[in-house]
Amino acid sequence: MRALTLALALVALATHLVGALTIRNPTEDYNPNHPNLRMFRRALTTNAADVAGKSYDFIIAGGGLAGLTLAGRLAEWSNVTVLVIEAGGDGSDVDLQETVPGFAYMKGLSSGPYGWGYKTTNLSSSLNLAKNYPLGKGLGGSGAINGMFWCRGSADDYDAWGALNPGAAETWNWAEMQKYINKAEHLQLPSKEQADQFHIVVDPKAHGSGGPLQIGFSKHIYPIVANWAPTWESLGFTNKDLAAGNVRGVTITPSTMDAAKGARSDSRRAYIDPKANFPNLTVLSRQQVTKIMFNDTLGGNLTASGVQFQADAASTQYSVFCNKEVIVSGGAINSPKLLQLSGIGPASVLQPLGLPVLADLPVGQNFHDHVSYGMYFNIQAGIETWYNLAMNVSGAQDAALAQWQASADGPLTYVNEAIGYINAADIGFATRPDPVATAAAVAAKYGFPASVQKGLVASYNIQNAQIATDAGQFEIIMHLWGKDASSIAIQVALQHPYSRGHVSIASASPFDQPIIDPDYFGVEEDVQMMADAVGWVRKLVTQPPLSGIITGEMLPGANVTGDDLVTAFKTTSGTEFHPLGTASMLPKDSGGVVDTTLTVYGTVNVRVVDASVMPLQVAAHLMASTYGVAEKAADIIKAKYAFKAAVPSSAASSSKATSTAASSAAPTNTAAGAAAGESSLSTGAKIGIGVGAGIGAVLLLGAILLFCINRNKKANHPNKNGWYTSQPAATGYGQDSYAMQNVPGGQGQPQHQQFDSPHRGFDRPLSAAGSIDTMATNDLPRGATQYRDSYDAPARRH
Ligand SMILES: Cc1cc2nc3c(=O)[nH]c(=O)nc-3n(C[C@H](O)[C@H](O)[C@H](O)COP(=O)(O)OP(=O)(O)OC[C@H]3O[C@@H](n4cnc5c(N)ncnc54)[C@H](O)[C@@H]3O)c2cc1C
Repeated sequence: MRALTLALALVALATHLVGALTIRNPTEDYNPNHPNLRMFRRALTTNAADVAGKSYDFIIAGGGLAGLTLAGRLAEWSNVTVLVIEAGGDGSDVDLQETVPGFAYMKGLSSGPYGWGYKTTNLSSSLNLAKNYPLGKGLGGSGAINGMFWCRGSADDYDAWGALNPGAAETWNWAEMQKYINKAEHLQLPSKEQADQFHIVVDPKAHGSGGPLQIGFSKHIYPIVANWAPTWESLGFTNKDLAAGNVRGVTITPSTMDAAKGARSDSRRAYIDPKANFPNLTVLSRQQVTKIMFNDTLGGNLTASGVQFQADAASTQYSVFCNKEVIVSGGAINSPKLLQLSGIGPASVLQPLGLPVLADLPVGQNFHDHVSYGMYFNIQAGIETWYNLAMNVSGAQDAALAQWQASADGPLTYVNEAIGYINAADIGFATRPDPVATAAAVAAKYGFPASVQKGLVASYNIQNAQIATDAGQFEIIMHLWGKDASSIAIQVALQHPYSRGHVSIASASPFDQPIIDPDYFGVEEDVQMMADAVGWVRKLVTQPPLSGIITGEMLPGANVTGDDLVTAFKTTSGTEFHPLGTASMLPKDSGGVVDTTLTVYGTVNVRVVDASVMPLQVAAHLMASTYGVAEKAADIIKAKYAFKAAVPSSAASSSKATSTAASSAAPTNTAAGAAAGESSLSTGAKIGIGVGAGIGAVLLLGAILLFCINRNKKANHPNKNGWYTSQPAATGYGQDSYAMQNVPGGQGQPQHQQFDSPHRGFDRPLSAAGSIDTMATNDLPRGATQYRDSYDAPARRH
C-alpha cells in the first residue's frame, strides 16, 4: 500500500512539474509574474556551507557584469568547475525594478541594498565636495541596475590600449575588442516604422548576432526624440550607427534590452540563467570575498590557494580553495580594494594599515572616470516628457506598469537613447597639456611612483594626439526627466579626462568603503574643455527643430558664464559611472598591475577581469567594452588550459556504475516498505505488487525527468528556450572580419563541452542547493511613492 501511495505521490509530483513546464515560451506569452518562472533559471545559493572548504578550478570574486560573463563562458567546459561569489543579492527580490527598463531611472537600485552606497572623498579640485558614487551590488553587478546604454568607443580608443602595450603576449586593439563585444551581442533591429519616425540608423555589420546578450531599441520612444538627430544634422553632424569605429556624430543608440519582452538583458539573465543544466557552475550570492589567500610561491611568484569570504562583519568567515585560478571581478572600485586587502597594492597604502606587502604594485592608481554635468532646458508646455511618469502624476506610472505587465510595451520600456559625441575641434579646444609636466604634477599630488608617471606620459601623448581626431571628447545625452513637466536635461560628459586619482583602502576592514578620489577637474584642461562643451550645447539648442521646442535655459542659466559657470559645473557634476584604470593593463614599468593576459604581476594564478584593467578611457559608456574584456579573457584562459591530453573515458563509465547502484537499491527499499503494510494477499504477492509499483513509479519518474531534460537541451538554442526573444537578428552578419564564426565559441550559448585537459573537475563536490523561493514581484509596492537615488541630479543618472 505504501508503495502504491509513493507511486501516486511521485506521479502527482511529476504531473505538477510538467504542468509548470508548460510556460516554456515566455516570448509568445511573457508573464514576468508567473510564480514558476524562476524554476527555469539555474539554481543559485546563498548558503556558504555549500561551498566552504571545497575546491573549484576557478573562483571568481564578484558576480557582476564581467564576472558572470566569464563564469558563463568558462562553465561551457563541462569538466571545469567554476565558483562565483557575489557580495550582493541574486536579484529575485527586486526583479521588477531590474527588469523594467524605465525603472532603472525611476526606481533606481544603486542607493539601496543593491548598491554599495559609496561616496567620493572630498574632491580638492571640485570645491572640496564629496559626490555619490553609485555601483551595483548583486548578480549582474552594475549591469543589472544601470541605464542600459549600449555603445562602444572609437577604434582609436582601443588601438591606444595596444599601443600602450607594445610587443605584448595578447593583442588588445579595436579589431579584437570589436570581435569580442560582438561575440556577446545579439542585436534586434527596430521596425522600419520606428526607424523612420525616430531617425534610427543601424549598421548591422558593426554589430554581433547570436551572442547571449540581447540588444534592442525601446518599443515606446517619446515623440520629442524624433527631433534629436535632425538638430545635430543641422550643425553638420552625421546621423549614423556609432558602433563602427568612429563615434563623432549623432545616434539613437540601442540598449541592453530584449525589445520584444521590453525587458533588461544583463550578464545574469544572458549568461547564467539559461545554464540550468550546468552542475559545474556554482553561484553563491550575499557573501563578500574578503581576502585572496596565498600559500606558496612558484618561481618567486605568488600562488593563490583560494579566498576567504563572509556575509558581513558580524558573520562567520569561510574559506574556499582553487585548483587553477582566482579571478578578481569586483569592478573598478572594489577590485583594487580586494587586491589591497590581500597584500597586493602600494606599500605606501598597505604598510600604515599594518597589512603585509606581498606585491608592491600601483593598484588603485591611474583611476579615471567620465565626469558629467547636467544642464536643464525649459520646453513648450504639453510636450510629453518623463516627468509625469516618474512622479506618477494622475497614476501615470501605475497605468504604464499595468501596460508593461500586460503587453511588455508602453512608456516604461523607454530608456534614454538619444546621444551623440563631439570632438575637441567641435568645441574649439586645441590646447595640449605638456605630457611630462602634467604627469609629474599628478604623480606629485598623490605620490604615484615613477612607473605610474611613465605610463601617464604615454597616455597623455595619446590623448594629445586625439585632440586632433574624431575620438569623442564629450558625450551629449538628451534626458527626458527634467526638473518639472516642461523641462528636459542635456548631459555633457567628458570622455578623455587628463585628471587621474586613486582608490585606496582606508582601513584593514573589508567592510569599510575605500577612499575614492577621481580628482575631477584636477588638470586645468579638463575645466576648460567642460566650459567649452557647455558652450557647444548652448549652440545645439538654438538649432532647428529642437529650437522650436526649447524655450530657454533653466540651469545653470544662459547668463552663467566664466568663473560662475565653472563653479556651477563643479558643484553639480558627478560620475557618469565609468571608473576604470585601477588595475591597469600596462607594462609593469609603466604603472601596470596586470599584463595583457590580465594576470596580476608577481602572481602565478590571479587575474583581474573587469573594467579595472582598461588603461585608458574610451568614448562610450563602459558596458560593451567590459563585456568585450570578459569575453576575450575567457578565451585567453581557455587557451591556457586547453591541453591536448584525452579526457579519460572512465569518467563516463564510473557515473554509469553509480546510477546502476542507485537503481538496484530501489527494490530493496520498496520491499521493506511493502512488507510492513497490511493486506489479504500473500506476502509474496504483496512484495511482487510493491516491487512492481515501485519500479513502475521509478521508471515513470525517470521517463518524465528524461523528457524534461531533453526539452531543456533542445531549448538551449537562444530562440527556442524562451530566454531570448524570437525577434529576427539583424541581417548581414557573418560577412565581415568580426563575424561570429571567426570567434571561438561564438555561436550563441550555452555550449557545454569538455576541454581536453587532464585536470578534470567532476570528481569534486558541487553545490546543488537552490535558494530561489519566490518571484518577489508581488512584494513590490505598486504605485508607491517614487524614489530616486540619493543623488539629486537626474541628468547624471543614465
Ligand atoms: C548607476 C550606473 C549606471 C550605468 N549606466 C551605464 C549605461 O547605461 N551603459 C553602460 O554601458 N554602462 C553603464 N554603467 C557602467 C557599467 O555598468 C559598468 O562599467 C560595468 O558594469 C562594469 O562591469 P564590472 O564587471 O567591471 O563591474 P560590476 O558590473 O559593477 O560588477 C562588480 C560586481 O562585483 C561585486 N563585488 C565587488 N566586490 C566584491 C567582493 N569583495 N566579493 C564579492 N563580490 C564583490 C559587486 O557587488 C558587483 O556585483 C553604469 C554604471 C552605474 C553604476
